[in-house]
Amino acid sequence: MPTDCLFCRIVAGDIPSTKLHEDDLVIAIRDITPQAPTHVLVLPTAHIASAAELTDADGPLLGHLFVVAASVARQEGLDGGWRLVSNVGDDGGQTVDHLHVHLLGGRPMTWPPG
Ligand code: AMP
Ligand code: ZN
Repeated sequence: MPTDCLFCRIVAGDIPSTKLHEDDLVIAIRDITPQAPTHVLVLPTAHIASAAELTDADGPLLGHLFVVAASVARQEGLDGGWRLVSNVGDDGGQTVDHLHVHLLGGRPMTWPPG
């Protein structure tokens, strides 16, 4: 576990977070700076820098991550729909180098996102 990684430290419990889901593979936490009424981050417990680092072997992990995201969306009552976004690299707007998917909902989402 990279000790300088914010999300690894959150997974380890060294930094507090509001966890909505936790298992061996994936956690879901509330984003500290919400951009929508529901803004949750779903991330693997293992350190993977970004979606650019994924391989075919990560398929089951990603499948589980999407199932958890859908489950959290249901728990949050996002019956009208929701959005998943994963930023990659500087141009993609990634600020934390540990793979995470933003789950956004609770208001209509605009497209393109800007
Ligand atoms: P990204 O810019 O796609 O890398 O997303 C990083 C996200 O992490 C941003 O939406 C931040 O608001 C969020 N964030 C940063 N620090 C924390 C924290 N301590 N707890 C929860 N979310 C955080
Ligand atoms: Zn990490």
